[in-house]
Amino acid sequence: MKKHNFSAGPCILPNEVLIKSSEAILDFNNSGLSLIEISHRSKPFVDVMENARALALELLGLEGKGYKALFLQGGASTQFLMVALNMLEKRAGYLNTGTWSAKAIKEAKIFDDIYEVATSESANYNYIPKGYDIPNEYDYFHCTSNNTIFGTQMKSFPDCSIPMVCDMSSDIFSRQLDFSKFDIIYAGAQKNMGPAGTTLVVIKEDVLGKVSRKIPSMMDYKVHLSKSSMFNTPPVFSVYTSMLTLQWLKDLGGIPAIEEINDKKARVMYSEIDINPLFKGFAVKEDRSMMNATFTLVNEDLKETFDTMLKEAGINGLNGHRSVGGYRASMYNALPLDSVKVLVEVMSELETKA
Ligand SMILES: *Cc1c(COP(=O)(O)O)cnc(C)c1O
Repeated sequence: MKKHNFSAGPCILPNEVLIKSSEAILDFNNSGLSLIEISHRSKPFVDVMENARALALELLGLEGKGYKALFLQGGASTQFLMVALNMLEKRAGYLNTGTWSAKAIKEAKIFDDIYEVATSESANYNYIPKGYDIPNEYDYFHCTSNNTIFGTQMKSFPDCSIPMVCDMSSDIFSRQLDFSKFDIIYAGAQKNMGPAGTTLVVIKEDVLGKVSRKIPSMMDYKVHLSKSSMFNTPPVFSVYTSMLTLQWLKDLGGIPAIEEINDKKARVMYSEIDINPLFKGFAVKEDRSMMNATFTLVNEDLKETFDTMLKEAGINGLNGHRSVGGYRASMYNALPLDSVKVLVEVMSELETKA
């Protein structure tokens, strides 16, 4: 039986993407060769890379606006470092909304003092700070659009006169935003786009070239841009599978279409959390994430019963992160509404048992 996969990452991918990518492992485009045993410089793979880069910009509505897309390695965690290396000259402002923001700040601090414009750390990051100032003499402002671990999400972004950098690892391609507000967007593939191994970086080219330091080649966005994301061997399987997911999303109707489905899933999920007296939501309501719903049992004694019921219903990946506890339902793009309905049924069934 196929499970209902609520895994926070690596996460669920569309079934047709899994089928096509596994076929390409055996025989890529009827070439008699596997996708992973051909040269990355061969035309069939260069086409994959170019298609993936173009699809990313098209879906974000950033074509022809001075942006370029890269598929790099090292995960979003390497971007914490690369952003600072490429952009930080004197000082930068960071919004600290969770574990991933804090890790981004830690890496940037290797280069200079970082100014935390605001933080919700003392509330264990259960809300998104608002109404902070971003000094306009800073090199850039960095934020995290969706806090995967705590289940909060930025619903709006500040108007910023300095470059805005955003870690969108866990909600990219999930909702409509004016993506042209951002100068650098990065996202590890494994939350909403593909298998682990590649990281999408979307860059407005004119923000680069303003720091005085020497940047090692692999860390230099300009080097990767000048080589069309092929400076060294790219993670071919991860890029190919990401391309398939982006094509799947485009065929579905793009971000507006998936946002409607994601909205529905989140509404079904949160209304059960609110209505069922056995459960309590973690994040404050106005900042709740459409991607990761975090909640706990009011009475921990029911944990064993609930966990058994989840297992029997074929529900996978619902355990909360250790820094929050309880449960986390990750509802990324490829998760069907039906899976959320199954989960919600189990939750209400627990109420009749308790
Ligand atoms: C998972 C995650 C990361 C870390 O990604 P890696 O690819 O494992 O380095 C960073 N930021 C956010 C928001 C995440 O959800």
